[in-house]
Amino acid sequence: MKKQALAEPAHLAADLKELKLPSVMTHWERLAEEAHRKRQSHPEYLADLMHAEVNDRRERRIARLIREAHFPVLKTLDGFDFAAQTSVERDAVLALADARFVSEHHNVVLMGEVGTGKTHLAIALGLAACQREHRVRFATAAELTNMLVEAKEQGKLSRKLEQLARFELFVLDELGYVPFDKLGADLLFSFVSRVYERRSLVVTTNLPFARWSEVFLDATAAAAVIDRIVHHATILKTEGESYRLKEAKRRVPRKGRTAS
Ligand code: ADP
Ligand code: MG
Repeated sequence: MKKQALAEPAHLAADLKELKLPSVMTHWERLAEEAHRKRQSHPEYLADLMHAEVNDRRERRIARLIREAHFPVLKTLDGFDFAAQTSVERDAVLALADARFVSEHHNVVLMGEVGTGKTHLAIALGLAACQREHRVRFATAAELTNMLVEAKEQGKLSRKLEQLARFELFVLDELGYVPFDKLGADLLFSFVSRVYERRSLVVTTNLPFARWSEVFLDATAAAAVIDRIVHHATILKTEGESYRLKEAKRRVPRKGRTAS
C-alpha cells in the first residue's frame, strides 16, 4: 500500500524559517511517521524533533570550526598507526583526545625527524579539539610569522595578535625548518608570550630544545620561548624512520622477485 504523505501544516515552513529551525523542517515529517509507528506521545515526538535540530546544529558548528582551522589535510587519531610509531605512547596521545588540555591551557610539543608523524598527530589533536567545539587554528611557523610581519607592516600588529589569541588552540607546525630573521623571531616570541597560560599550543619541530636558539637567533629569546611552552606541556618524541620511506620500501618489490 502506498504511504500517504502527511499534510504540511499551514504556516509551519514560514514559522520555522523565522525561528531559524531548518532541521525541524527537514525532520518533522519523517519523525512524525516514526512517532505514529512507535506510538510515541506528543511530548516524545517534540523531544525527538528538538533533539534532531540540536544535533544538526552541533554538526554544522563543528564543520565550521574545522573549516576555520585551515588544516592542510584532515588526519585522525584513528588513522594513526601506533604500531609503526612505537616511540610515542598511544595512551599518552589518546589521553589528549578529549581536548581537556585545551580547557586547561596546556601545550603539546611533538619533536622528531621528518616523516615520523608529527604533523599527522598535530592535525589529529586539532581535529579532536574542533569536535569538542574548541576554536582551533593551524599554521606553519613560517605562515604565522609572515602573518605577523605583514600585520606589523600595515600597523595592525596588536589587532592581529588579538585576533589570533581568540583561537583556543593554535597548532604551530614545522618550527625549526625555516630560520626566522630578527623581526620574525621577535614577533613569534610576542605571540607565544601573548597566549602563554591563556591558550594552548601544539608545536611540531624537528629540532631538540638545545637547538631552538638557531630558530630564535639568540639563546635568551629561545630560552624564554621554551620556558613558556614547556611550563605546562606534554612532550612527545617521534623517533625512527620516515613513515613515507617505510611505506615506499614496502611497496617496492625486492630484487629477484617478480611483482604480481
Ligand atoms: P612529519 O610531520 O613528522 O614530517 P607527517 O605527519 O607529515 O610527518 O607524516 C608523513 C606522512 O606519513 C603523512 O601522510 C602521515 O599521515 C603519514 N604517517 C606518518 N606516521 C604515520 C603513522 N604512524 N600512521 C599512519 N600514517 C602515518
Ligand atoms: Mg610535518
